[in-house]
Amino acid sequence: MDIQQKVLFVDAGTGFYRLAKYPVGDFFGPVDLGLHLTGRFNSLNIGVGLLAGSILPGSNRLVFTGWSPCWGGFYVSSMGGAGLVFENLGVNMLSLVGRASTPSVLILNRQHGEEVDVALEPLDLPRVWASGRPGFYGLLDYVHERYSPRYSRPPRILAVGPASAATDFGAIGSVPLDGNGRLTHVDTWAGRGGFGSRLLGEHNIAAVIYGGTVVDEDFRDRKVADDWFQVRYQKRLAAKDFEATTKYRFDPKLSTGGTLGVNFATLGGAMLSFNYRSVRMTEDERVALHRSLVLDHYLQQFNEETIAAKQQHTCGEPCAAVCKKMRDEFKKDYEPYETMGPQCGIFDQRAAERLTHHADALGFDAISVGGVLSWVMECLHERLRSPADVGVEDVPVFDPSSFRVVEDSDRNAALGVAILDSIVSKRFNLAQGPRRRARRLARVKGRAVLDSFVHTAFARKGWMVPNQYWTPGALAPMPIMGKYYMYYGPDFLPPRQLGRMNAARMVEELALDNLGICRFHRGWAEDMGAEIVEALYGRGKEFVGKVKMTASRINSRNSSVFWEAGRNAELVQAFLTRRRDVGGVDRPELHEWIARFEKDGREAALDFWYEMHKGTHESLLEF
Ligand code: SF4
Repeated sequence: MDIQQKVLFVDAGTGFYRLAKYPVGDFFGPVDLGLHLTGRFNSLNIGVGLLAGSILPGSNRLVFTGWSPCWGGFYVSSMGGAGLVFENLGVNMLSLVGRASTPSVLILNRQHGEEVDVALEPLDLPRVWASGRPGFYGLLDYVHERYSPRYSRPPRILAVGPASAATDFGAIGSVPLDGNGRLTHVDTWAGRGGFGSRLLGEHNIAAVIYGGTVVDEDFRDRKVADDWFQVRYQKRLAAKDFEATTKYRFDPKLSTGGTLGVNFATLGGAMLSFNYRSVRMTEDERVALHRSLVLDHYLQQFNEETIAAKQQHTCGEPCAAVCKKMRDEFKKDYEPYETMGPQCGIFDQRAAERLTHHADALGFDAISVGGVLSWVMECLHERLRSPADVGVEDVPVFDPSSFRVVEDSDRNAALGVAILDSIVSKRFNLAQGPRRRARRLARVKGRAVLDSFVHTAFARKGWMVPNQYWTPGALAPMPIMGKYYMYYGPDFLPPRQLGRMNAARMVEELALDNLGICRFHRGWAEDMGAEIVEALYGRGKEFVGKVKMTASRINSRNSSVFWEAGRNAELVQAFLTRRRDVGGVDRPELHEWIARFEKDGREAALDFWYEMHKGTHESLLEF
């Protein structure tokens, strides 16, 4: 019997909806099906993988696909745990088209085997954002209070904040509900790609509440799963998963856990700070800065307040990784606490909490907005922009040599909050995205304004603040950047080889996204994904083929543009010399690239970029 994926199409303009079915085999999950629907209907697609609701840990991600307003191309973003409740709707995907005439809440409810009940209700969005808890949190409260009583089991809510109305990089956020149906503080975000701006801007939907009582025949046979894992790892599923997620829970070797704890404990001289200007320091200076400001303060606070106190939760699905590290209402991940931490000259948890929580309340993609803030701060520090130009009254403390960890972090956080407010009120207008803004400013003020905005560029105005690892892979010309569709290891690879490796990583990560599996479980999920599809659907080989074809199709629209920011090239050059001088790498290719950068930096950067591009393109051909 053919197994079908069910897609609920909703036209936000008319309220009409219909159900369509797509056989497993033609499509395997939210990414390949989402790509297809985006191409046909230009829809925003929200769906789960085939393994949602199963006993496999991490299998309940909610995956968003569609045209990204900030990247300017097809994008994939995902949110932990939100697929578990979505599954109770008895559909695999929601596909949104059309635009409501007024900002609205989309209500999806399915009770006791009936059809999905679809309703759109208008709301006074500015008032909701401004009353009670601010922004995104206020909207969560509003929707929860009004609509959750309609559900017999706890629903889940997706919501946006004011950033989605003011910029192209608003996120979609959610929190799991606790056992009593109350909202928790454990924020989960589909941040990258700006799908909040898309949801609100294109469809005029500010929030979606969904839930139901459908119980599918999901895979729940633990003995069978244990047998699969015994064959491959000589361990049961739970034991292998526990081992594979050590970093995210607690790493006894480092006495810390979570992405924030483990990364800040191990970065040393590779830590980026002060809008990437740390790459200009000596290694000794970077190591000293990391020790005094991070190991001895920023990380120490985190370890005492969060790790020792065991303030940790899951995203909403049962998961031994408990990766959501908290301090009261503040959820802490590495990348937001890096871009709105050291990159903004903030090395104190109170200051970082204040800024990141404000960015979350406004509903920004936290990584991207941190990159924008650190860029603006450098422009202020270098007097390339005046405070009045960006609608604020202060300048940052951006000199690491005399930095006072608490006072100066606090001042920079206060400035960051003021810049965020200026962005959403459009005093500092980023409605068309910061890349376009930087380019325009550069025409008047000179290249330095654009050079210091580190981003990857796509087509005419697409942009993405890179993942926070000092490695050329984070700046690669891939068709989707800002997530881990690239190789971000710290070792040196010649760029052509790096491009191939990026392509291979994209295929692996795409497979996880297409199964709706959390990448923190990749320690087994990458090995086992196809095997599980084979065991449950008899189509493991087809699944692998489909993922590769999907990667090549996404890459066929790869409009990556050579680095517009001069600092991108500077990061790569400094990475190469650091590999030689600190890493002790003695490879002829490395020496050759260093010499080329020293001779003509721009030409070398262009060649390096194109070599990566070649490696990706030669790897992602359809035939
Ligand atoms: S690792 Fe974290 S995000 Fe992933 S499933 Fe577990 S709790 Fe959720």
